[in-house]
Amino acid sequence: MKVGHNPMGLFEYNASKELIVRLKHDADLIQSITELAKNKGVEAGSFTAIGALKRAKLGYYDQKNHEYREMKIDSPHEMASCVGNVSLKDEEPFTHVHVVLADEMGNTKAGHLFEGIVFAAEVHLHQLEGPKLERKYDEVTGLSLWGI
Ligand code: ZN
Repeated sequence: MKVGHNPMGLFEYNASKELIVRLKHDADLIQSITELAKNKGVEAGSFTAIGALKRAKLGYYDQKNHEYREMKIDSPHEMASCVGNVSLKDEEPFTHVHVVLADEMGNTKAGHLFEGIVFAAEVHLHQLEGPKLERKYDEVTGLSLWGI
């Protein structure tokens, strides 16, 4: 599908392989999933993960100024929810992740994940087969979004 010919922003895929992975202790969650995608040839996919992180960096996108604000989390948290997708950016698999992290009182912090150092993590990645899903710079938002 050519960029600029998909006004609905709809891409259709068929389900392919299901990958279940236990991530390594002390690894970065995003890098680990990106490596997995590269090794397994996943160019489009979605995933969920649960587990715990030792520390993390979250982002909040300032929609007015078009920049991420960073929030450092320097203590262990449960990864109560983690969802993401894999698509292509500059021809390479790119992993986009959002998380909800819970502290010992169950209080949560959530947002875009920049860095997440794994204590333990179980990932379920769904590989999708279909058209190329590529991120391109979007002037309206200032983000790299799926080209339509
Ligand atoms: Zn995000």
